[in-house]
Order: sequence, then structure tokens, then C-alpha cells
Amino acid sequence: MRVPAIAANWKMFKTTHEALAYVRELGSLVKDVSGVEIIIAPPFTALATAAEAARNTAVGIAGQNMSAEKEGAFTGEISAAMLKDAGATYVILGHSERRKLYGETDASINRKVHAALAAELIPIVCVGETLEEREGGQMATVLDRQIKDGLDGLTGDQVGGLIIAYEPVWAIGTGRNATPEQADEAHRHIRTRLRQWFGAAAADACRIQYGGSVKPDNITGLIALPDVDGALVGGAGLQVTSFFEIIRGAASAAR
Ligand code: PEP
Repeated sequence: MRVPAIAANWKMFKTTHEALAYVRELGSLVKDVSGVEIIIAPPFTALATAAEAARNTAVGIAGQNMSAEKEGAFTGEISAAMLKDAGATYVILGHSERRKLYGETDASINRKVHAALAAELIPIVCVGETLEEREGGQMATVLDRQIKDGLDGLTGDQVGGLIIAYEPVWAIGTGRNATPEQADEAHRHIRTRLRQWFGAAAADACRIQYGGSVKPDNITGLIALPDVDGALVGGAGLQVTSFFEIIRGAASAAR
């Protein structure tokens, strides 16, 4: 059985003080919640503070990005080992903002996925089509390329252990979430490809989150879908109360 993973990506928001207050509150709110994995992705500067506050709670910590390099003269970069050292267990890789604004490609994301796994971080690999690609009938082709190239060279066991976030770009930060039918189609497609390319065990174990305008009032319809194994939340993850409502919605529908 796949445990749904609900993650909040804070992007470039929150100081260390704000992070501390949020994680303390969330840690106590989720004390009695079971059946879901809870993840916060703070900015790098607040990672260690958030991880310390999350210790002995059900809240796990993710980086929002990392370098594929181990160490060296790479000004402004953060390695997988540094994320681990700061208390992260997960790392978001290939978010559409990284692809669009910082030129990340499936090949560069693939290098990061390998580096994350080598450091025993759990990658949350983001995939998803733009509106133009969807309207051009390219959704499946785009997902195929992102999965094939982004996960190139991984074993079935490695794929089974990671998280894929299906985030249609047109649904991110727009308030326009995918309908359950649209999410269902994309998630089923991704799992079918995982089965074809990495085997049944990998496909059955790999968690596929949905991301794109997830809110307390739409999480239950999405999480009820058999191939939706959690959510990657942006805007609604910035307030601890709305993120907690999403967690609660997911936990109540947990299979
Ligand atoms: C995201 O940035 O990954 C995201 C899903 O954002 P939002 O929930 O705000 O659409």
C-alpha cells in the first residue's frame, strides 16, 4: 500500500523565525494524524531551523533544489550532502519554475536525481505539461520524455522509492486545478509508463503526487483517485491552517 505524501513547497517565502513558528504549530496540529507522510520544503536558509523544530514530529523536511555536483567551486549552489546535513530527507527536483526560469532540462534533472539517491535523499521529481502542450495534444509525449529522460539509468528499486509530482504547469499558482478526470488520466498514464519501463514492483511502489492549486476544498476529490498518492502544495502550504486542512482531508480519505 502506498502512503500518501503531502508536501508544502514554500518557494522563496519565510524567514527562519516564520519557519520556526509554522513548524512548531504544524508539529502539534498533526500529532494525532496518521496514514499520511507530511513534508515541508523551506528555503535553504530555514532548512536547519525547520528540521530542528520538526524533530520528533511527523513532519519531514525537503530541499527545493540542489546541485548535481558533490562539492567544488560552484558559487551559490547547495549539494545533496549539505541538504542531508541540514536535516532534509527529501529534495524537490525539476519543479516547473526551475525548468522555466533557470533552464533546467531533463538531462540536468536526471543528474540531480542520481546525486540525490547517492546521498540517500528521496527525490520528488516534478513533471507536467504546459497549457500549450496540453492544447496541442502533447500531454502524454511530454510526460513520456520527462519520465524517460529524467529517470534514465535508475533501477526499478530506485524508482519504487522516489516520488513523482505530476504538476500541470497551467494549474500551478493559477487557482485552476486539474479536474479529477484530468488528474486521473495523467496519473494513470505515468504509472503505466513506470510499469513498462521499470517493472511492476517499481510502478506499484512509486508515489505520484498531484500538484497545481491544491486547496482544502479540492484535496479529497483528488486523493480519492487510485493513482493519486498525495499532493505537492504551493500557495495553500504557506499558511499552516490551510496546509493542515489539506493534510486532514488527505488523511480522512487515506486508503
Ligand atoms: C507548486 O508550485 O508546486 C504548486 C503546486 O503551487 P500551487 O499549489 O500554488 O499551484
